[in-house]
Amino acid sequence: MKEIALLGSTGSIGTQTMDVIRLHSDLFHASVIAAHKSIDKLREQAAEFHPHAIAITDEDAGKKFLETYDGDADVLIGEAALSEVVKRDDVDLVLVAVVGITGLLPTLEAIRAGKELALANKETLVAAGEIVMNSARERRVRILPVDSEHCAVFQCLQTRAAEERELRSVILTASGGPFRGYTREMLSRVTREQALRHPTWKMGPKITVDCATLMNKGLEVIEAARLYDLDADRVRVVVHPESIIHSMVEYTDNAVLAQLAVPDMRSCISYALHYPHRGDAVIERLDLTSAGSLSFFKPDTETFSLLALAYDALRVGGTMPAILNAANECAVGHFLRGEVGSFTDIFDLVGETVAEFSSSPNPSIDDIISADHEARRAVERRLSL
Ligand code: NDP
Ligand code: MG
Repeated sequence: MKEIALLGSTGSIGTQTMDVIRLHSDLFHASVIAAHKSIDKLREQAAEFHPHAIAITDEDAGKKFLETYDGDADVLIGEAALSEVVKRDDVDLVLVAVVGITGLLPTLEAIRAGKELALANKETLVAAGEIVMNSARERRVRILPVDSEHCAVFQCLQTRAAEERELRSVILTASGGPFRGYTREMLSRVTREQALRHPTWKMGPKITVDCATLMNKGLEVIEAARLYDLDADRVRVVVHPESIIHSMVEYTDNAVLAQLAVPDMRSCISYALHYPHRGDAVIERLDLTSAGSLSFFKPDTETFSLLALAYDALRVGGTMPAILNAANECAVGHFLRGEVGSFTDIFDLVGETVAEFSSSPNPSIDDIISADHEARRAVERRLSL
């Protein structure tokens, strides 16, 4: 039985992970569930999955949970709860499915504790990818990517001959989001509801908005560079609206390997949980004849400037990716709460904030955290102007 600590169990990835665990209850058990404040959902999950520990980061929600909880799991409350639960002896694998930079410290803690790590959370690798990867190498901790593109690349790399130098590039596919083909002027008129309607994937609100701006692909370019130790020129993006090819790798002989499946995150979650084996299917079979034709386009990085900005941040390195990530998290948060004028304000807020900062090279984790805080403050300042 593999014991899993599921951070972000109430979210989109979290609940889909619970689906996979439910289907393979002979192999996996959620020994820890954790969330911010969705206590009704946590209560339901605790009743069904019988975890040994429950972590709740919001203090008020935690107190409220305790008022009615009569189970026997340990309940940890407060900001540090995630970093505490990942160290437990009854945890074999930590799946980080919280959204945003909140994933960073528990990820590092899980590595320090020598736990196997499955990462859905991409912001951690964007902000502090070099530190995370170095620390995983030192501790010999394997990182299993759950993000569908990186999971696809990981699978394509399994057949690779031992030589690192035989890999030419990775090619990440992008659905293009709901606004593919839009001009900047058209983008300025889209509503929050439209931005929250993704054509092929059903996800949490933050990543859904990131898909609509193409920032998600920008974050994924940095994520891929960190996971596979590649410079910016070796991570390419192609728009593929059908979301059937989840990504590809190109070798030095120009052979390209792709991973295909129906778009369903449970496939990536299941792959990470079963690795190095493949479990029984949790998704539908792919029927290529009914999928019809697969199409590919160049991304429009002029209109969707955040993708270009992410490449720039990757080239600059140091604290710049953390600044970019924090500015985006903050701007998207305000957009979701209806506190910015228009959708294109996200592009402007992030672009202007990033331009305000210079990068510090070889940052420590404290440098990354303070760059994150400063970038958020800079966005807030712009908003109150
Ligand atoms: P959701 O918004 O659906 O879920 C977020 C989860 O994180 C919830 O359980 C939430 O708890 C928890 N959470 C939020 N803030 C905190 C906090 N401060 N402390 C503890 N827990 C917190 O997000 P998704 O599931 O969509 O995404 C999760 C991560 O996975 C993101 O980094 C995203 O980029 C990545 N990802 C997601 C994909 C998807 O298909 N959804 C695909 C690929 C990557 P609560 O419910 O209490 O607020
Ligand atoms: Mg993805």
